[in-house]
Amino acid sequence: MKIGVLALQGDFREHLHAIAQCGEVGMEVRRASELDICDALILPGGESTAIALLAHNYDLIQPIRARIETGMPAYGSCAGMILLADRLVDGAPGQQTFGGIDMTVRRNAFGRQVDSFESTLSFNSHNLHAVFIRAPWVEDVGSRVEVISSVTTSDGQSHPVAVRQSHLLATSFHPELTQDQVVHRYFIDEVCKSR
Ligand code: GLN
Repeated sequence: MKIGVLALQGDFREHLHAIAQCGEVGMEVRRASELDICDALILPGGESTAIALLAHNYDLIQPIRARIETGMPAYGSCAGMILLADRLVDGAPGQQTFGGIDMTVRRNAFGRQVDSFESTLSFNSHNLHAVFIRAPWVEDVGSRVEVISSVTTSDGQSHPVAVRQSHLLATSFHPELTQDQVVHRYFIDEVCKSR
């Protein structure tokens, strides 16, 4: 299995490192011909507006949408979560996403209180140390979306921060920045290999 990482902007190198730590083959994706030979795709953390703009300039929006629609497993962390959302709140004017997950994502949701924080989360029966950097949260999900992890804010509200819809996985946080490969392993073993 070849796991592509969209390498236009953001922390794609850290995702490639995590893929290698899991014993899998990763490759940088910058053009449609590279996407064509990937079995799965990771959308990294970074700046979702910049990634979307570059994806547009590299003619990658439609090819990525088409692969997502035809079942290619994809995982997005932080900016990558935003890019997998069907709907955005507080997106930049005209901001495009690839979409695929029936959810509304609020960009920079935690940003007004604290720009960055770390927290321990439960993820698929594992305790996980999670890093949030100007992170989004999931505002609402459709019936096909499974909420894997949530964070409770100081107002007592619970917000999903890890979700899955069949072959698509998204997290508000950055598992590529910590040494724990639980999320990448889940993507590889549960999301990719179950297909
Ligand atoms: N706030 C960024 C965005 O809107 C995401 C931040 C991140 O990926 N760490 O794209």
